[in-house]
Amino acid sequence: MANGKSAIVTGSTSGIGLGIADALAAAGYNIMFNGLVRNDDEKSAAEKIAREVGEKYGVKTLFSPANMMKGEEIRAMVAQAEQTFGSVDVLVNNAGIQFVSPIEDFPEDKWDAIIAINLTAAFHTSKAVWKGMKARGFGRIINITSAHALQASEFKSAYVASKHGVTGLTKTLALEGATCGITCNAICPGYVLTPLVEGQIPDQMKAHNMTREEVIQKVMLYKHAIKDFVTVEQLGALAVFLASDAAKLITGVSIPVDGGWSAQ
Ligand code: NAD
Repeated sequence: MANGKSAIVTGSTSGIGLGIADALAAAGYNIMFNGLVRNDDEKSAAEKIAREVGEKYGVKTLFSPANMMKGEEIRAMVAQAEQTFGSVDVLVNNAGIQFVSPIEDFPEDKWDAIIAINLTAAFHTSKAVWKGMKARGFGRIINITSAHALQASEFKSAYVASKHGVTGLTKTLALEGATCGITCNAICPGYVLTPLVEGQIPDQMKAHNMTREEVIQKVMLYKHAIKDFVTVEQLGALAVFLASDAAKLITGVSIPVDGGWSAQ
């Protein structure tokens, strides 16, 4: 049942973002869905996702195709959510991309895109929601970073740099929001079996001459002390908690959900 609050979840047409949007909707939040669409069919599919989640939980939902590489589109998305829902109480910065390559071959355009979507977009969205959150004296900003916001791995220079950057943004916004009821925290997942990770499996199988199961166990879950993938439901539950009143005094922290990876 609706709880009178509203959330924007960027990159919520797939994977972790969809799991978090579903969990927040189940907890009664209206949801602005967002994701990249390349044609009308993808737009209709994204709108259908938003509609079905809204019907399932009896909350209002919208879909925005705002490209996280474009500040103007991000501001329009936030304005649309504020106008339709009356407020944006929770912002989940989740949209993200990955590219894996040694530094000497790393394409410049991939570096720029990863920094824009994974890091700069979180600046634009946070700035756009800030005024409203401050005026209402309540806001929850939740950044989906990664175990790679705390640890590095070779061949992921742009991704690791972008996620470490969001860790810094998280701490800074926590301090700036402390006097006006806004908290800012990061969730740092280990491996989650989403389309982003599925897409890496065939390349890893080729690169290491391994079967799918070997790639999962020996490459992906190698750093998880608990040899399981993280689930989107586990991440959704944590996001709902961070958005709640019980988390009022939790701010500026990065919470690993990584099966013990970052404990090493
Ligand atoms: P995914 O590929 O399943 O989903 C990515 C979402 O981002 C999609 O909705 C896509 O449309 C959207 N998106 C991509 N580029 C966009 C753009 N330019 N503008 C708007 N939306 C855009 O990925 P996922 O695995 O669910 O990852 C979500 C987040 O979680 C990312 O920030 C990722 O870095 C992070 N993460 C993922 C894992 C993992 O193992 N899957 C681990 C740690 C962190």
